[in-house]
Amino acid sequence: MTVARAHSALTAFLSGDVRSQELMARHTTYRIGGPAALYITCDTVSDLSSAVRILDAEDVPWIVLGKGSNVLVADEGYPGAVIVLGREFKTHETSDVLVRTGAAAILAGVVNDAFSRGLSGFESCVGIPGTIGGALAMNAGTRDGWIGDIVESVTLYVPGEGLIALRGEDVAWAYRDSGLSARGIIVEGTMRVEAGDKESIRESMEDSFRRRKETQPVGQPSAGSVFVNPEGDSAGRLIEQAGLKGERRGGAVVSDKHANFIVNDGGACAHDVLQLIQHIQNRVGELNGIELRTEIKFLGSFE
Ligand SMILES: Cc1cc2nc3c(=O)[nH]c(=O)nc-3n(C[C@H](O)[C@H](O)[C@H](O)COP(=O)(O)OP(=O)(O)OC[C@H]3O[C@@H](n4cnc5c(N)ncnc54)[C@H](O)[C@@H]3O)c2cc1C
Repeated sequence: MTVARAHSALTAFLSGDVRSQELMARHTTYRIGGPAALYITCDTVSDLSSAVRILDAEDVPWIVLGKGSNVLVADEGYPGAVIVLGREFKTHETSDVLVRTGAAAILAGVVNDAFSRGLSGFESCVGIPGTIGGALAMNAGTRDGWIGDIVESVTLYVPGEGLIALRGEDVAWAYRDSGLSARGIIVEGTMRVEAGDKESIRESMEDSFRRRKETQPVGQPSAGSVFVNPEGDSAGRLIEQAGLKGERRGGAVVSDKHANFIVNDGGACAHDVLQLIQHIQNRVGELNGIELRTEIKFLGSFE
């Protein structure tokens, strides 16, 4: 693997920014994470295809990230390339029935825009951080629904094949998973909306925000829910029942407000969060025989 050679080729071929040793703590909502060997902004599909071709030729592993609101990056960083989508992927257009948006558009912006036009559909996405690409990759949502429920189509860039359009109904939407990341890089999504009553949309948004404020540590660095809810139960309930609210490792703490959130209370490192995750898994496993699976994605080595 020759990161240095990849770096010079990328700089020569790409219009977007190419950085080396970029601290990932700057690009994750946890504010945790060591350096990525390369951090590449691809502004166009052509940039994306060049970047992937160069990285594959130089044997440099790569991953696409959105706003890093669902990832924990190792303290040692990531020895490969983090690709983020730039300019051309931030646009979005709205009609009375469809919202078509690039994968780098911020979900909250798209949601607010739809609601301000009196369009209903995105109710289950209110208050979720991150990009459209991240939301589609994770099938983001709440107990009221998932983004997958309203997806008309998704466009992927598949290395070696180019742009591929999938119909929403052909995606395997599941709880916090769509399988899309494994198939390619999400570059665009089209979601169905419909005319709604402005006043009731506003009320429903305010309700969602209020519920989040009351039940989640909004404003403290985190990656949202750490564990997926086991079938028929809630990870937060199990963690709270195990008496782990307020449990701390270094700067990482199980939130007092929502036990499924581990927050960075200042100066937490990835190792602190990982230790807490393992402790929670052990305690809940001992008490209930339930193996909690993580929702957050890990980037880098956690050996
Ligand atoms: C305070 C807080 C509250 C949250 N509440 C919720 C919630 O209610 N519901 C919920 O579902 N989630 C929630 N989350 C988690 C997170 O916001 C979502 O999973 C979000 O959709 C991730 O978007 P992102 O752009 O930050 O993706 P990232 O965290 O950057 O990436 C997440 C995954 O998606 C992949 N990915 C990202 N972009 C692409 C792309 N273009 N192509 C292919 N793969 C891609 C990445 O490789 C990675 O595996 C919360 C997080 C926080 C911090």
